[in-house]
Amino acid sequence: MLLFTPGPTPVPEAVRVAMAAPTIHHRTPEFEAIFAKARSSLLELFSMDEAVMIASSGTGAMEAAIINLCRNKALTVNAGKFGERFGKIVKAHNKELVELKYEWNTPASVEDVKKALSENSDIDTIAIQICESAGGLRHPVEEIAKAAKEINPDIMVIADGITAVGVEPIDTENIDALIAGSQKALMLPPGLAMVGLSAAALERIGKGAGYYLNLASEIAKQQKNTTAYTAATTLIIGLNKIFELIEEFGGQEKLYKVTKARSKALLEALKALGLTIYPKSPALAMATVIDENAEDIRALLKTKYKVNVAGGQDHLKGKIFRINNMGLIETSDMLWVVNAVESALADLGRVEFSGIAAKKFSEVFAAELK
Ligand SMILES: *Cc1c(COP(=O)(O)O)cnc(C)c1O
Repeated sequence: MLLFTPGPTPVPEAVRVAMAAPTIHHRTPEFEAIFAKARSSLLELFSMDEAVMIASSGTGAMEAAIINLCRNKALTVNAGKFGERFGKIVKAHNKELVELKYEWNTPASVEDVKKALSENSDIDTIAIQICESAGGLRHPVEEIAKAAKEINPDIMVIADGITAVGVEPIDTENIDALIAGSQKALMLPPGLAMVGLSAAALERIGKGAGYYLNLASEIAKQQKNTTAYTAATTLIIGLNKIFELIEEFGGQEKLYKVTKARSKALLEALKALGLTIYPKSPALAMATVIDENAEDIRALLKTKYKVNVAGGQDHLKGKIFRINNMGLIETSDMLWVVNAVESALADLGRVEFSGIAAKKFSEVFAAELK
């Protein structure tokens, strides 16, 4: 079975093998060396002033960012499950919330953000997804962050990059907290969250807030290559292996280039089959198709063609399917996926099988990589 859900993504064999080594104690020079390596790779990946690892799923880092950076009032963007979650976290901590709501295929507008900020001068934090994975939507986070800082230079910008970090280079000039998670672009099992932080964020954190998710106490420890609580040792060993695999592949820049080319090729192949791409601004992390036969296609893909793709949630349940494009994906695997989608459509009597999806994918991919 090919796992092609936009999280979790498949864990490469070399990473699984690396993580199969006997457990080592986390308070040892051996583990500190492993931690130091992971920390320096993360600082490079985020290209920010600080990087913190937390033993939690991605949501733990979202909560850590909110409690440590937002003082009283946050602006969140809800164009899907994950944007909605930021709002729920803000409320759970009894902070004030202004929420901009959009249909799940519609990116946030810079104008709406400016308006909300001008009407609420007490907003001290913005939290937004770079890619809202619920609909595979790319928000214009860089422009929003820039506009927000122009209005209020002290505002904190939290960017959930769980399906963007490692997928595309992110301009962090106006971002204060950039969140990543292990089970998406970083191709690890779930359970490790990572946050890149700006100098301004470090200042705002001060003594920190919360207990387990107190970023001040974590940063103080992690700067000494240890952690406040038991480290996710196995996942951090896996993380180092992932960075090694990316180096072997040709480096992060090459991975960004290939991911972008493959995204274009994937979307063009799906369009060549007459399928409709759901988001108005598709993110590179995945391809999202809206289709009345979404569930039939997904079932055929899984049972007959051995490809596991994701469906939709809430009002999009049964209406969309999402194909992963994050990580070190074998081109042959993606070719099989688009071919399988064409086969499934042929099974449903929607198209006559001609191999057009694989052809289109190959042509566009090659042209983009030239
Ligand atoms: C997966 C994901 C998360 C985190 O979800 P967890 O289940 O807590 O790991 C957050 N934001 C986005 C955009 C995601 O895709």
